[in-house]
Amino acid sequence: MLSQRIQTLSASLTIAISSLARDLKAQGKDVISFSAGEPDFDTPIAVKNAAKKALDEGLTKYTAVAGTPELLNAVADKLKRENGLEYTTDQILTSNGAKHSLFNLFQAVIDDGDEVIIPAPYWVTYPELVKYSGGISVIIDTTDESGFKITPEQLKSAITPKTKMLVLTSPSNPTGAVYSKEELEALGEILKDTDIIVASDEMYEKLVFGDTQFVATASISADMFNRTVTINGLSKSAAMTGWRFGYLASANRELISVMNKLQSQSTSNINSITQSSAIVGLDGTIDKEVEEMRLAFESRCNEAVELFNAVDGLSVVKPNGAFYLFVNIKEVSNDSMQFCKDLLEEQGVAVVPGVGFGSEGYFRFSFATDIETIRVGIKRIEAFIKNR
Ligand code: PMP
Ligand code: GLU
Repeated sequence: MLSQRIQTLSASLTIAISSLARDLKAQGKDVISFSAGEPDFDTPIAVKNAAKKALDEGLTKYTAVAGTPELLNAVADKLKRENGLEYTTDQILTSNGAKHSLFNLFQAVIDDGDEVIIPAPYWVTYPELVKYSGGISVIIDTTDESGFKITPEQLKSAITPKTKMLVLTSPSNPTGAVYSKEELEALGEILKDTDIIVASDEMYEKLVFGDTQFVATASISADMFNRTVTINGLSKSAAMTGWRFGYLASANRELISVMNKLQSQSTSNINSITQSSAIVGLDGTIDKEVEEMRLAFESRCNEAVELFNAVDGLSVVKPNGAFYLFVNIKEVSNDSMQFCKDLLEEQGVAVVPGVGFGSEGYFRFSFATDIETIRVGIKRIEAFIKNR
């Protein structure tokens, strides 16, 4: 009864583990979870107030599929102001979270047998979306030794006549690696004489640490502007995971138009109230709150990295952004799935196995949790390793 296609799809491991931890907690178990990629902060008040105002004004009807003109203008203004990217509103589509933007993109461009290059460790969703659209994932492995970044040589040798797309995530989920301008330029050089599309997932743009500079992939050159589809949203930077707002922008109007068509036959416009709030999330109103959250993430990150590196058998490269640590467990385990299952059972600590992100020998630890809980969690992980 079920389609072949749906039978090959796996559920999101990050969501599965977060749900499991929530269920165990609800059963009264002493479980602390570092599995969710979700800020622990509340949505900024100005965003909430915009929702209340929209409700009072009766903005409760269908809108244009891509979003209201005001929202599309707010996205275009944001991309110009913060990233130096000039898009017109017909080059933008808003969707139900950045995950939905990615879904639309993969469905719109991938044909059976097309290859999509994905650097590992990768966010769990990409290979599943590739599979669901009939494509084939071509994985480029990276390790902590290379800072979890691909080199131009690796990219070059992964390209074949069937390569349709390269997925770049900077800052990265799950490693926090951030590509510099020079690194992006070097990758751009390799792509120059190809038709390869770059899907640049910039969800963690606002969460960079120290003197790290975020650089939008499409801003590197005219060539990169033309081939890059920029994906972003407010889930992480504005603590708006539940509102479901994401967007993508592309120089290619035909591409935006076919995704608009797909969305018109699937979900239509995103929630009208979310649209009003997203404008406030994009226009600079909440810059102060976003910066406060970034500083909190950075301080937690610094302490958590120190604590992990003091544990015998574990090591972690300090991330330059996002809110995850990708902790190396190779000295103590070569089976991250088993390690994480045992850790949850014995110490009630939920983290996500590296194998789910395409890299065995690690686990992902989200520090989007208060510092006290982080301290307790790392102590428990240390006790777990000592008892093995
Ligand atoms: N891209 C990356 C890299 C992510 O980590 C996530 C997870 N939240 C998403 C996209 C999807 O975000 P959203 O909640 O807006 O769908
Ligand atoms: N992206 C987040 C994560 O990696 C949320 C869960 C998901 O959408 O997969 O944990």
